Amino acid sequence: LMNVYQPLNILGWAYREIKQATVDLERLFQTLRLEAEVADAPDARDLKVSGGAVRFEDVSFSHEGRSRSVEHVDLEIAPGSFVGFCGPSGAGKSTLLRLIFRFFDPDTGRVLIDGQDIATVSQRSLRDALGLVPQEVVLFNDTLRENILYGRPEADEVALMDAVERAKLKEFVESLPAGLDTRVGERGLRLSGGEKQRVGVARAILKDPPILILDEATSALDSRTEAEVQAALAEAARGRTTIAVAHRLSTIAGADRIHVMEDGRIVESGRHEALLARDGLYAAMWRRQAESAEAAAAPRAAAKAG
Ligand code: ADP
Ligand code: MG
Repeated sequence: LMNVYQPLNILGWAYREIKQATVDLERLFQTLRLEAEVADAPDARDLKVSGGAVRFEDVSFSHEGRSRSVEHVDLEIAPGSFVGFCGPSGAGKSTLLRLIFRFFDPDTGRVLIDGQDIATVSQRSLRDALGLVPQEVVLFNDTLRENILYGRPEADEVALMDAVERAKLKEFVESLPAGLDTRVGERGLRLSGGEKQRVGVARAILKDPPILILDEATSALDSRTEAEVQAALAEAARGRTTIAVAHRLSTIAGADRIHVMEDGRIVESGRHEALLARDGLYAAMWRRQAESAEAAAAPRAAAKAG
C-alpha cells in the first residue's frame, strides 16, 4: 500500500469530479479503490463506542518487503485521555496511527476499540468514530467554508462558526475580504503551514469524533503560530480520547501518558516529568529541542537588548 497520505493529492483532483456525488473522504477512498488490502468481514457489525478506549494487543506489522515497522506493541489508551507518541523519524509512529484506522491489518496481534477488535467491525463505523488531523492537511480548490464543512457537510452555520473559533481561525478568517467564501488551495489563496493545520483542526472539531488522532506536521512553525496551533489542538482534544504524534515535544509535554518509539518498539512510557527523571531517549530529545529553541530565540533577544 502506498503512503496513505499520498492518495490525498489525487483526491484534490477527484474532489471536483465527485463532489456532487459525495464529499465523504472514506467513500472517495473506496471509489478510488485504494483500500484493497482490507475488507469488511462478512459478518461485520458496527463499532459501538462507549468511552473511546484504544488497546494494542501485542501488535506487529511490517510494510511489504521491509523489516518490522511496528514490533510487539502492547498498550492501553484510557478513554478520554490524551496520549502522545514521539521518537526518531522512521520509528513507526505514523504506522501505528494508521493501524487504528485499519489502513492495514496487523501481521500479529489485535487493535481494539472499547473491547471490539477493529478487524471485525464495519469500516464505515470505524471511520465514523475516528477523526484525523494529518501531517499534511490537504485543501481542495474551493472556498474556506467548503473546506471546513468537509468535516461534516450537513453542519449548520452555528456549528461551523464554533469550529472556526475553537480552531483559532476566527482572526484569520476576519482578515480576509471574502471571509469564509475565500477560495483556497492550489488555485486560490495559499495558506501557511500553521493555517492549514488549523483548517484540519476545524474539520476535526466539526466532525466531533470520540477518538481524535493527530499526526503533527514536521515543518517548523514560528512561535506565535505554534502557540495558536497548540491552543487549537488543546481545544480539539477536549472531551475525547486524543492520540497525538508530536515532533515538537512541547505539544505532548502535558499528556496523560507519553510513549517513546524507536525501531518499531515502545522503549519508554510515562508522564513528562517521569521521562525527564529517567534521563533516557525522551530526556535527550527534550534537551536537544530546548537548546535549538534557545539558539533560535537568541538573535531576537540580542536584537531587543540592543
Ligand atoms: P515515523 O512516523 O515514526 O517516522 P513510519 O511509521 O512512517 O515512522 O515508518 C516506520 C518504518 O516503516 C520506516 O522504516 C519506514 O520506512 C517504513 N514505512 C512507512 N510507510 C511505509 C510504506 N508505505 N511502505 C513501505 N515502508 C514504509
Ligand atoms: Mg510519521
